[in-house]
Amino acid sequence: MSDPAGRTGEVGGRSVRFRLLAIALLPMLVILPLLLGVAIYRWNAKFDAALISKVNGDLTIAHQYLARMLEKTGVQMRALSASARFRDVVAQDGSGSLSDLLDEARKEIGLDFLYLTNGKGDILASSPALQRRPRQDWPIVAAALSGQAPTTGVDIFANDELAAISPALAERAMLELVPTPNAVPTDRSAETQGMVVHAASRATLPDGGTAALVGGILLNQNLDFIDTINDLVYRAASLPEGSKGTATLFLDDVRISTNVRLFEGRRALGTRVSAAVRSAVLGDGHTWLDSAFVVNDWYISAYEPLVDTYGKRVGMLYVGFLEKPFSDAKYQTLLIIITAFIAITGATVPIFLRWASSVFMPLERMTATIAEVERGNLAARTEMTVSGDEIGRVAVHLDSLLDQIQERDRQLRTWNEELNARVRERTRDLEHANLKLEATTKQLIMSEKLAAIGEITAGVAHEINNPIAVMQGNLDVIRSVIGADADKVKVEFRLLDEQIHRISQIVTKLLQFARPEEYAGYVERHAAASIISDCLPLVQHLLNKTAIAVVRDDRASRLVLMNRTELQQVLVNLIVNAIHAMPDGGTLGLRSFDAERDGSPGVAVEVSDTGVGMGADVIEKIFDPFFTTKRRQGTGLGLSISQTLIKRQGGQITAESRVGAGSTFTVWLPEAS
Ligand code: ADP
Ligand code: MG
Repeated sequence: MSDPAGRTGEVGGRSVRFRLLAIALLPMLVILPLLLGVAIYRWNAKFDAALISKVNGDLTIAHQYLARMLEKTGVQMRALSASARFRDVVAQDGSGSLSDLLDEARKEIGLDFLYLTNGKGDILASSPALQRRPRQDWPIVAAALSGQAPTTGVDIFANDELAAISPALAERAMLELVPTPNAVPTDRSAETQGMVVHAASRATLPDGGTAALVGGILLNQNLDFIDTINDLVYRAASLPEGSKGTATLFLDDVRISTNVRLFEGRRALGTRVSAAVRSAVLGDGHTWLDSAFVVNDWYISAYEPLVDTYGKRVGMLYVGFLEKPFSDAKYQTLLIIITAFIAITGATVPIFLRWASSVFMPLERMTATIAEVERGNLAARTEMTVSGDEIGRVAVHLDSLLDQIQERDRQLRTWNEELNARVRERTRDLEHANLKLEATTKQLIMSEKLAAIGEITAGVAHEINNPIAVMQGNLDVIRSVIGADADKVKVEFRLLDEQIHRISQIVTKLLQFARPEEYAGYVERHAAASIISDCLPLVQHLLNKTAIAVVRDDRASRLVLMNRTELQQVLVNLIVNAIHAMPDGGTLGLRSFDAERDGSPGVAVEVSDTGVGMGADVIEKIFDPFFTTKRRQGTGLGLSISQTLIKRQGGQITAESRVGAGSTFTVWLPEAS
């Protein structure tokens, strides 16, 4: 029982401890981090969204700058074509002065080229001087000639188209491609086309015919343009320290104008955009707002498609800023939050744990106490003093329960011991009774034998009595026949008489002892001395065996009332016991004297010996029936029968003894009245 219960207790205790700990720490270690996680996640998303919305705003500014630039160019072109001076110069028809005017106007407006065409393929004037006739079928030229709007837009010029206008422009447009990972693979090694802000305005010729004033700004490697956008979008302090604003113009997917730097501070002209951006912006016409890997770093980027005057997507406008300072700031904040959390947890959890363990302490003590009790130590206690909390009180209760159990256990043990003692006692009694029974059985057998011997003895005695009577009679006859001669053998006759008398005495006594019933039944007054004398012949043979001296002292003057045979039996018993106590000889004392007991007159007969004596433990049992120390020879009945007989006559037998010194038995009988 103890083992499984103990194990359950332990597991139970531990699990309660863990559960309580979990309850205590769950908010701290699970819910709080979860909430923090969610908050951080939300904050991160918002942060990213804020970055995206910022870059979107940046893109809007860049877009508007480009739109303004287009519009301004258009407006300036229209102003030129409508100016009185222009009209005058055209009217004068001096082509040299017209060219001068165009030259002047081109520089003022900031154009790369400016020419006047009559719409039939003739160039009336140009700045710079054209190499060949440039392409005339641009939609904006047609629109200007026909007087429609819009008259500005972005157009892509092939290299030879640029070369027709100016070899310098063709040269500027030329860009070697820089191999760029992530870009769409290409066989091309150089970008030769030019992206041009293209504007045209209608002009009236002196002959009334219409003409178009056409101008353009090549954007390839136009760093003023891109730096202006960048300065506009990313004014000083509009970005956190360490971040960097960038702006780029793409022709198709090639950077033709940018402030993004390559490694050695060189601008990243000729590098290309990633395939993903290209397909989203150029392919699908979407605006891209996301984090993107630009040249060599991650940027929060915004790309929008640029559409030429044909309505075709031909390039992209890009602005963006370095993500790293922002993400650094983000991660730093995150780090601060997490560090703060860990620090707070680290500081508070031990407090929780200590707190919790003070709650568990009574539980643990109880578990340990119960285990100890199960191992058998009932004295184990939690030793908790009454404290406020429930578990503590339970522990105190447990102690008082254990006190009760221990008390019960003690009682049970006492009862058990008592019971055992009783069982032992009863067993002893039973053994004793068994022994007695055994002895009784033996005694019965012995009695039977004695009875048989008594019978035989009586028979033998009768048989002997008759021949003795005959012998005595015949001796008397012989004495009378020989007459006076008898005196000659007087001594011999006396000896014969004596011996015959002695035989008859022995036989009579033997008969008396063996068949007491023949003599019992009546009590007589006797002198103790005569009965002692009657006993001696019966034990003479025992006395002869060892050197025992008999010392007699008969002083009793009173008579006692008792059946003669019975008293004789008592004394023979005492004498035989005395003789048995002196196997190496000694002195047998036989005294009779007048004595008082409890104020009554009587006679005491003392049988004393100088034998082995008895210990106190023996003396107290000698009158018990069947108590004997003589093993096989004794019956243990002698003293008990003697006492019965004496008590019947109102007397008593007492014994005194010293081990090694001898014993004295005293028979006291009341005086016969
Ligand atoms: P038994 O003689 O058959 O043993 P008794 O009743 O006559 O039985 O005696 C009981 C016991 O008392 C004896 O066995 C013996 O131990 C002790 N006892 C009796 N008389 C004497 C004696 N005179 N000296 C020593 N022991 C005696
Ligand atoms: Mg005896």
